[in-house]
Amino acid sequence: MTDCLFCKIRDGEIPADIIYKDDDCLAFRDINPKAPVHFLVIPRRHIENLFDTTPSDEGLLGRIQLKIPQIAKEQGLDSGFRTVLNTGPGGHQEVYHMHYHVLGGGPFTGFN
Ligand code: AMP
Ligand code: ZN
Repeated sequence: MTDCLFCKIRDGEIPADIIYKDDDCLAFRDINPKAPVHFLVIPRRHIENLFDTTPSDEGLLGRIQLKIPQIAKEQGLDSGFRTVLNTGPGGHQEVYHMHYHVLGGGPFTGFN
């Protein structure tokens, strides 16, 4: 049992528009997109944010970050994209399951 929204999406308990999954991570569309293409990439394992990582996560973080450009291209972001990773209240993090935002495909709105 978990109260984490993104763990529930991972476990299929809450619906989401999932665009990619593998053993390390899951990608799904942001419910409130700030760009024509805006999706989130989360580690499968519940990690709160970068403060919650240790050197043993080096491989996992590397593999996820290497996967992002591949997913972005599959989503049509051939000319590039913005990657954002909010950490803690000082980073305006709202959901405490680590996630990379990936945005592109046109103008961004309301993204601070
Ligand atoms: P952050 O401020 O970095 O924690 O961003 C949280 C993001 O999660 C926001 O962009 C929200 O729009 C997004 N979000 C919240 N609930 C859902 C959901 N059920 N499915 C997809 N995205 C969500
Ligand atoms: Zn979680």
